[in-house]
Amino acid sequence: MNDELFRLTINDARAALRKREISAVELTRACLERISATEPKLNAFLTVAESEALTQAQAADQRLAGTQPAPALCGIPLGIKDIFCVRGMRTTCASRILENFVPPFDATVIVRLREAGAVFLGKLNMDEFAMGSSTENSAFGPTRNPYDLARVPGGSSGGSAAAVAADECLASLGTDTGGSIRQPAALCGIVGVKPTYSRVSRYGIVAFASSLDQVGPLTKTVRDGAIMMHALAGVDPRDSTCSARPVPDYESALNGELRNLRVGVPKEFFVEGMQPAVDDAVRATLKHLEAAGATAREISLPHSQYAVATYYLIATAEASANLARYDGIRYGFRAEAEDLNELYHRTRALGFGPEVKRRIMLGTFALSSGYYDAYYLKAQRVRTLIRKDFEAAFNTCDVIVTPTSPTTAFRLGEKTQDPLQMYLSDIFTISVNLAGLPALSMPCGYDSDGLPIGLQIIGPAFGEETILRAADALERSGSIARRRPSAV
Ligand code: GLN
Repeated sequence: MNDELFRLTINDARAALRKREISAVELTRACLERISATEPKLNAFLTVAESEALTQAQAADQRLAGTQPAPALCGIPLGIKDIFCVRGMRTTCASRILENFVPPFDATVIVRLREAGAVFLGKLNMDEFAMGSSTENSAFGPTRNPYDLARVPGGSSGGSAAAVAADECLASLGTDTGGSIRQPAALCGIVGVKPTYSRVSRYGIVAFASSLDQVGPLTKTVRDGAIMMHALAGVDPRDSTCSARPVPDYESALNGELRNLRVGVPKEFFVEGMQPAVDDAVRATLKHLEAAGATAREISLPHSQYAVATYYLIATAEASANLARYDGIRYGFRAEAEDLNELYHRTRALGFGPEVKRRIMLGTFALSSGYYDAYYLKAQRVRTLIRKDFEAAFNTCDVIVTPTSPTTAFRLGEKTQDPLQMYLSDIFTISVNLAGLPALSMPCGYDSDGLPIGLQIIGPAFGEETILRAADALERSGSIARRRPSAV
C-alpha cells in the first residue's frame, strides 16, 4: 500500500480497509495530515473535527474487525459542506449570522452516512447561504483552486470541490440549487452528481430555494459517485418532498457500456463567448462517445435562453422567504438593540453579507403585490416551458451532453464587481434545476493553462443509473488523461 493514503478513491480504500491492509485510523490520520499541509493554501475547511473524526475511525476499525459485514462507507473519511446540520459541530453556512450555531441534531443524510460508517473530517467552505459561483461570498474568506491558487474553485460548494481535488478527503457532500455541485466539480477537475429533485432528503440542510435545492456527492471518480449516491438516496418521513421510489444499486449499473446510447447535443449550449478550449474538449468527447458506439444528434432546448432570468426570480423569491427566520431571536447571531424592530434590523444588517442582502431584496420585490404576476408568476410559467423542452428531448435521446461551465476557473476578484457576470457562469447548469432533473459533471480535458474542463451529462427524471453508466464508461475508456492539481 502506498504511503499517500489520502490519494485513495472510496472504491480502493473500501477494498484495502476490508482486507485490513490499512486501518480507518491510519486513513483518517493521513487525511488530517494532508489537511494541515494544504489548508494554509486552500482554505477549504471552516471546521476541522480532528478528535471526532478519530473517534469515528476507531469505531469503524472495530466494525471492520467484527464478524458482521462492514457497512458501505465504513472508515471512509468525508468532508461536509457547511450547510448540513451535524449534531454538535458548528454549522455556519459561511455566514456571520450563523457564526456560532451548533445544531442539536443531524441532517437525515448525515444520519445515513453515520449508519454507513463514514468518518466526518469537518465542515467545508462555501458561498454564504450557497449564493454564488466562486466561494468568494464566504464570510470566512475565499477557497482557492488547487490547480492555480490565484483562481476560484467555483461555487457555491467550492470548499467541497477543492478539498476532494486536493485529496484532503476521499469525497464530500455538496448542495446544488443552480449548479453548485457541478460547476465547482468542473472547475476543480472532479466528479459531481446532482440527483433528481426529491431523490435525496433535505431535512436538516439550511434551505436556500426549496423548489430547487438538491444534495449530492463530489468524488474523485464516477464509481465513487455511485457508491455515495446509494448511501444518500431514499425516502425520509421528515422531508415530505422526498420520493418513496426504491433506490437502485447504482454501482451495479456501471457495466462500461456505451453502445446504442442516444446522446442529445443541444445547440443552444454551444454559445458565442464560450471559451474555445471548453468547446473543443466537449466536442472531442462527443467524438469519442460516437467511436464507442453511441449516437450523437443535435437537439433544441429553445427556452433554455430564459433559464438564468427565470432562476434568479424563483431562487431569490424562495430565498427571501426561507431567510426570514434569521431574526436574531431563535438562534444564531443577535445584535445589540433598544427595541424589537431595531433588533431585527441590526441583526440582519450586520449578519448577512452583500450578496445575500441583494438576493433578499430582489426576491422580496419579485413577490410584492403589483409585481408578483409580472415577475414571479411569469417565471413559474417559463419554468414549465423549460421542463417541457427537456421532456420532449428525452423522447428521442437517453442523455443530453453539454459543457458544465462556459469557462475554466476564473481569477479571484474577476467577477465580484459584476454580479451579472457571476450569474452567467451558471448558464449551463441552471435549467437542469428548474426542470428537476439529474445531471453530473466529470472532467473531459484541460485548457492551455492546465485548468480542468467539465462535461455535463443530463438524464431524465430518476435516470441516475443512465448518466452514471455513461460517465463511468467514458472514464474507464481512458480517453481523458487525468492530471493532478499542480498547486498543492
Ligand atoms: N451560482 C448559483 C447561485 O448563485 C447557484 C448556487 C447554488 O446552486 N447553490 O444562486
